Amino acid sequence: MIASLCHICGLPIEQPLGHNLWCHHCEPLLMQSTPRCARCGLEMLTSAVTCGHCLLSPPPWQRLYCLGDYRYPLSSFIRQIKQHKRVWLLAPLAQMLSQTVEQSARTLVTVPMLHHRELWRGFNLSELLAHQLSQYLPVERTYTKVFRKHRNTPTQKNLCREARLNNVRRAFSLRTAPDINHVAIIDDVVTTGATACHLSELLLDVGVEKIDIYCLCRTPKPSQK
Ligand SMILES: [Zn+2]
Ligand SMILES: [Zn+2]
Repeated sequence: MIASLCHICGLPIEQPLGHNLWCHHCEPLLMQSTPRCARCGLEMLTSAVTCGHCLLSPPPWQRLYCLGDYRYPLSSFIRQIKQHKRVWLLAPLAQMLSQTVEQSARTLVTVPMLHHRELWRGFNLSELLAHQLSQYLPVERTYTKVFRKHRNTPTQKNLCREARLNNVRRAFSLRTAPDINHVAIIDDVVTTGATACHLSELLLDVGVEKIDIYCLCRTPKPSQK
């Protein structure tokens, strides 16, 4: 039998990991083991639990779990899933992400897309990821209709934190209040954190006590790139 080739290094996969997408030599490139802040998920130089920024002004969620930074090869897999609909790449990534979660929320909520964007893409990655994660975590319920998205969030890169939050505040609202106290918001990539911040605030407003964020990757701060 001819061995499959690893999508990352291109060499034959000698010891399959339960899939034929990448080899065990390359897997650490996807699950980056650098120390990260438990709150914001950004890389840290030391292995403290939280970074100095989160100690001073913690985000409204408790824990952010991710596989690593948005960089090759993770970034390439996410682009392949989104742009070329290679959704089969998602299951092993979701399984790896589930292994990083320490105390799983019993309820997952997903981040909506604008209707026409979802029609154009054919799927909502946050929903697909939540569905995959629920296979590996002790999840009781996944809500896909908790939030409504009204409009697009304009490019956020060059805006200050307040402006980004204001932009996002006009983009999402709460549709139904989930009747639970520990929720995980599922997103594919957390960039500035403004969306995760606003969605967390909406949930805290209706009495949710504990919020975690599960995402495939985190975009490093410009100074960390
Ligand atoms: Zn490889
Ligand atoms: Zn932090």
